Amino acid sequence: MTGDRVLVTGGAGFLGSHLVDRLCDAGNDVTVLDDLSTGDEARLALRRGGIRFVEGSVLDAALVGAEVARADLVYHLAAAVGVRNVVDRPLTSLLTNARGTEHVLAACFEHGAKVLLASTSEIYGKTTKLPMAEDDDRVLGSTRIHRWGYSTTKAFDEHLAFAYADQGLPVVVVRYFNSYGPRLAPGGYGSVVANFLRQATSGEPLTVHGDGEQTRCFTYVDDTVRGTQLAATTPAAEGSVLNLGSTRETTVLELAELVRSHFPGVEIVHVPHEEYYGSSYEDTRRRVPDVTRARDVLGWEPAVDLPEGLARTVEWWRGAHA
Ligand code: UDP
Repeated sequence: MTGDRVLVTGGAGFLGSHLVDRLCDAGNDVTVLDDLSTGDEARLALRRGGIRFVEGSVLDAALVGAEVARADLVYHLAAAVGVRNVVDRPLTSLLTNARGTEHVLAACFEHGAKVLLASTSEIYGKTTKLPMAEDDDRVLGSTRIHRWGYSTTKAFDEHLAFAYADQGLPVVVVRYFNSYGPRLAPGGYGSVVANFLRQATSGEPLTVHGDGEQTRCFTYVDDTVRGTQLAATTPAAEGSVLNLGSTRETTVLELAELVRSHFPGVEIVHVPHEEYYGSSYEDTRRRVPDVTRARDVLGWEPAVDLPEGLARTVEWWRGAHA
């Protein structure tokens, strides 16, 4: 599917910029809308001249309307991302994720553009049912815990998308699982891979929260964006929600050891969760996706394992941030 006019909201973000590369390579006519809050135009440097870049926010309904009007397909990635971000700035994050998506979906509906909504594995909350399948129950904690506000706004976004789908809007939702790779910001939205790499390159100890036995399925960004493009362009995926994640479960401690294998001599220390997030925080103990649907509907499989993906990320990181 080439030659589409696509709009990528959040296209200067970590994931968004990789998606933009992929869409450009496929011959699409790409516009990026990004307010550069966590996005960085430098990530699009390779594409300068090849894309239209519009600096602005999804909170600006008129701008969103004008940009969506030019597009056949909208990849909606703009959001306040990352647990750290949401815990630190709950109000801005909640409003951006709720209102921004309202604007994008309303404009897509008005102008007849198909939309892919980027969602998150955070949706599943702290469920203990593994692997997590798309139609599973969600398990969240108290509303006094800011972390669950992120899950809640993204779930609201999904509900809204499916409500518009009932009215005829072509929609597909993908849920990401701990994506990592080159172009992670040193702050990395506080994500564990970015934190460990920043610490390792500055000779600081790697801070493992708690016992380090909590698990995630770290997904290399190329796999994530390949799945995203497939989800948006595979007719059979329309109207569905699909997990996009690696199925290899890794403890945070294993991740720390893997990072240390690239930086011999770096220490690993354990710190209480509360020291990083404050006392009103709950962690997800294990997180593993069921990717049967993505496999069946998209023919998608993650292709890059963690040792390989991390090696590529470290190589890039050394050049960019060291
Ligand atoms: N984590 C850690 N050290 C850090 C940053 C995060 O041990 O410097 C832990 C964090 O407490 C969580 C896991 O790594 O258990 C994944 O955190 P991240 O913020 O990357 O993603 P999420 O919790 O959204 O999966």
